[in-house]
Amino acid sequence: MSKKILLDKINVPGIKTYEVYRQNGGYASVEKAMKAMTPDEVVEEVKKSGLRGRGGAGFPAGLKWSFIDKKSGKPRHLVCNADESEPGTFKDRYLMEFIPHLLIEGMITASFALGANLSYIYIRGEYMWVYKILERAIAEAKAAGWLGKNILGTGYDLELYVHCGAGAYICGEETALIESLEGKRGNPRIKPPFPAVSGLWANPTVVNNVETIASVPWIVNNSGDEYAKIGIGRSTGTKLISASGHVKNPGVYEIELGLSVYEFMNSDEYLGGMSSERPLKALVPGGSSVPILPADLIYKTANGEDRLMTYESLSDGGFATGSMLGSGGFIVYNDTSCIVRNTWNFARFYHHESCGQCSPCREGTGWLEKVLWRIENGQGREEDIDLLWSIQSKIEGNTICPLGDAASWPVAAAIRHFRDEFEYHVRFPEKIKNRNHFVTEP
Ligand code: NAD
Ligand code: SF4
Repeated sequence: MSKKILLDKINVPGIKTYEVYRQNGGYASVEKAMKAMTPDEVVEEVKKSGLRGRGGAGFPAGLKWSFIDKKSGKPRHLVCNADESEPGTFKDRYLMEFIPHLLIEGMITASFALGANLSYIYIRGEYMWVYKILERAIAEAKAAGWLGKNILGTGYDLELYVHCGAGAYICGEETALIESLEGKRGNPRIKPPFPAVSGLWANPTVVNNVETIASVPWIVNNSGDEYAKIGIGRSTGTKLISASGHVKNPGVYEIELGLSVYEFMNSDEYLGGMSSERPLKALVPGGSSVPILPADLIYKTANGEDRLMTYESLSDGGFATGSMLGSGGFIVYNDTSCIVRNTWNFARFYHHESCGQCSPCREGTGWLEKVLWRIENGQGREEDIDLLWSIQSKIEGNTICPLGDAASWPVAAAIRHFRDEFEYHVRFPEKIKNRNHFVTEP
C-alpha cells in the first residue's frame, strides 16, 4: 500500500475544521519552522526532499525557492496556483475541499521560508464553493494566531488572501495568473524574467501548485531526507492522481511515485481494472496537454521495461513512445472511444482558451479544431492528416507560453499512434456518422 502524506487524515471526521486539524497535529510545521529553524534551513529541507512542482512541469521546488532574491530589499510573494483547469485534473480541488488547512499550513511555512509577508491563493472561478471553504479556513487560522502580525511572537508578519479567477484556463499559466492578480487581462508574459526574479508587481515571486505547497508541512516535520526516501530516483515523494474514464474506480488517489502503471490500473486498491469487458485502448496519463499512449505502450516502455508512475518512466523514449506525468490527470479509454473525436474535443478546448497573443497559437489552434471537426464529421480529405501534422509542428515551440505546445502534442501523438483511425474516418465517412461506432471494430 502506498504511503500517504497528503491524504492520510482526509477521512478523519471534521478535519476541515481548525480544531480537528490542529488536534491531529496540524500547524506543527509552522511551529517547527518559526521556532527551531531559519528560513534558509526550511528552503534547504525542501531542496533535499527533491520535491518537484506538482502542477505539471515538475520543476524542483527547492531550486525555484532558492532563485528568490532575498537581498534586493524588495517585498517577496508566494502565490499558490489553484487555477486547476487542465482537462482530466481535479486533485487540487479534492485537497482544498476536504483538508483546506493543509494548504493554509503549507502557505504559512513556505511564506516564512521565502520571507514573504503578502501571499495569495489564486483559485479558478468555477471552484466558488472551495473558495468559500478556503476563506473560512484562513479566518480560522487568523483567529488562532497563525496569520497576521508577529506570528508566534517571532516578529514575522503574514497576510494571506484568496483571489478568484474568472474562468480562463490561461490564467493557470503562472505569468498570466500574475497579470490577472494585478487586475489586468490574463495574458502570459515572455520568460525570462521568471517570476522568481520579477513576478507580482515586479517583485520576486514564487508560484507553486496547491499539491506542491501542501507537501511542505510533511517535509518540514519529517525532514527532506525522509521525503526523498519515498519514491524512486528523481521522482521523490507521493503524487495525487485524478483518474477518470473507463475504469472501475475513478477518483483521486495518492500514490508513491514509482508504482507501476499496471498496478495502479488493475489493483483493487486503486482503479480496479477496466469498467467493463471492453479492452484498454489508450491512456492520457497527465492531463489533456500530454501525448496519448496506445495500449501497447501503457504498461511497458519501448525498451520492454515496466512503465512506472514517475516523471522519467512516463516520458521514456520521448514523445515517439512516451508521454508525461504532467498534472496527474489520468484518463483511460476503452475501444469504444474514438481517438479522432477525443483529439477534436481537446483541440476545441485549446482554441477556445488561447489568449490570442501569438499568431501560431491563435490561428493554429483554430485550424486544428476546424480540420479535426471535418474529419470527425465525415468531410475529411486524405491530405487533411498531413495538414494537421504540419499545423501542429508549426505551433510547437513557436509561442510565448506552453499552451501552444499543449495544443499541438495531443494532435501529434494521436496521428503518430492512431493514424489508421484518421484514415478510416476519411475513407469511410458513411460509417463514422454513428456517434457510437466502435472505431477499432468497424
Ligand atoms: P515551465 O517548465 O516553463 O516552468 C516550470 C516552473 O519553473 C515555473 O514556475 C518557472 O517559473 C520555473 N522556472 C523554470 N526555469 C526557471 C529558471 N531558469 N529560473 C527561475 N525559474 C524557472 O512550465 P510551466 O509553464 O510552469 O507549466 C507547464 C505545465 O503546466 C505543463 O506541463 C502542463 O502539464 C501544466 N498545466 C497544468 C495545469 C493544471 O491545471 N494543473 C493546467 C495547465 C497546464
Ligand atoms: Fe496566448 Fe497561445 Fe501565445 Fe500562450 S501560446 S501566449 S495562450 S496565444
